[in-house]
Amino acid sequence: MNLKKNEIYQTTVTGMTTEGSGVGRINDTVVFISNSAVDDVLKTKIIKTSKNYAVGRIEEIVTPSPDRAEPDCKYFAQCGGCTYRHISYEAELKIKHQRVEDAVKRIGGFQNLKINPVVRCESRCFYRNKAQMPFGKDNHSNTIMGFYAYHSHRIIDSDCCLLQPPIFSQISSIVREWAIKNNVSVYDEILHRGLLRHLYVRIAEVTGEIMVCLVINGKSVPNKNELTDKLKAVSGFKSLQLNVNTQKTNVILGKECIKLYGSDYITDVLCGLKFNISPLSFYQVNRTQAERLYSIAENYAQLSSDDVLLDLYCGTGTIGLSMAKKVKKLIGVEIIPQAIENAEKNAVLNGISNAEFICSDAAKAAVKLEKNGIRPDVIILDPPRKGCDKNLIETVVSMTPERVVYVSCDSATMARDISIFNELGYKPIEITPVDMFPATPHVETVVLMTKCD
Ligand code: SAH
Repeated sequence: MNLKKNEIYQTTVTGMTTEGSGVGRINDTVVFISNSAVDDVLKTKIIKTSKNYAVGRIEEIVTPSPDRAEPDCKYFAQCGGCTYRHISYEAELKIKHQRVEDAVKRIGGFQNLKINPVVRCESRCFYRNKAQMPFGKDNHSNTIMGFYAYHSHRIIDSDCCLLQPPIFSQISSIVREWAIKNNVSVYDEILHRGLLRHLYVRIAEVTGEIMVCLVINGKSVPNKNELTDKLKAVSGFKSLQLNVNTQKTNVILGKECIKLYGSDYITDVLCGLKFNISPLSFYQVNRTQAERLYSIAENYAQLSSDDVLLDLYCGTGTIGLSMAKKVKKLIGVEIIPQAIENAEKNAVLNGISNAEFICSDAAKAAVKLEKNGIRPDVIILDPPRKGCDKNLIETVVSMTPERVVYVSCDSATMARDISIFNELGYKPIEITPVDMFPATPHVETVVLMTKCD
């Protein structure tokens, strides 16, 4: 029997999707229900049907799952930022471990690979050091800013977010007030008109330095001095920048930044080293967990003083530089020029003289290094979500490192890539998941692979 839209059915949630929706079955049809928990018995209203599945909304919780907890955020039901504030942290960690295990078994084909417990984060609150808040208009044409609703570009007007440090709320209210007072237009995605697109804020947690960046569809903003003066009241305010994004795109940041006040970068401390971070450079959003992640990677790398270490997808050089003093030579590769500039300065800033950084696509640089006879002892890979190209993996293998340490923010592409490594003679030894993003479905993993003789 087909499910009917707007009808209410009862079901029990038996699993979770990788995006964190509960999964139930009604009349043999799979139904996805957001904000539900495994073992919930629910009355659900069908809001979408398609050939192979349906989407339901919770009408009534008949019997709550034992995993359930009271959400601590008033925006949770509408906001797309958090997925898991309605279940306990233990339940969330269990889901994340399962997600890694499923990927490794089903996609990677490894049935007995050791997967360690997920490294937990102390708190589900205030762990992010970066926020990107879209501007918009409500139905009465008032300027609003906040976060996107789940799977949508509808803006939930909000003045605080539990994932971010409270000081970000002070900044967003200053910027909001300035925008309203000066009648600054906000960007309309459909008409591709209006100036303010996103407020982008970063804090260096250890030094307290703050960078505020307005992403705009233009090159200048009105009354910038007023904005600067107001922001000077925020403790740690170090830099105000414009980021020019005049493209019709979902990508938040454009390529050009214009400094309005202060420094070009902020400086944080990670693994005992100082790092300069520019607006366009990648920097781990959860600093404390990043230190744990890197220490696991270092443990897996088993470096010694004669080693050459290759850090592919190095960003501002954080992983490699945190290990540079243990090796003979470090080579880092990264595609964003600003990040490489940061990486080079970061080496100098920390008195590291055995590091070389290359601005290039990782696969192309690897081919060149291989041709030039570079044979790293250990290669660290930390690709973006889409993982590595097969030809990059082949080049890495042809450099014959003893160990490959693969850091990943997407379990599915990680599982795919380690199975390619395995076919080419690099065996995965163990995996440690790290919870870098509590309350969201994302989970980071570090994998150790060694060369089979
Ligand atoms: N290892 C760093 C950064 C990891 S994020 C850290 O822990 O901070 C992934 C990085 O890969 C980003 O800095 C991104 O700019 C870079 N990147 C994306 N595609 C790339 C490619 N094709 N070649 C090289 N670097 C790439």
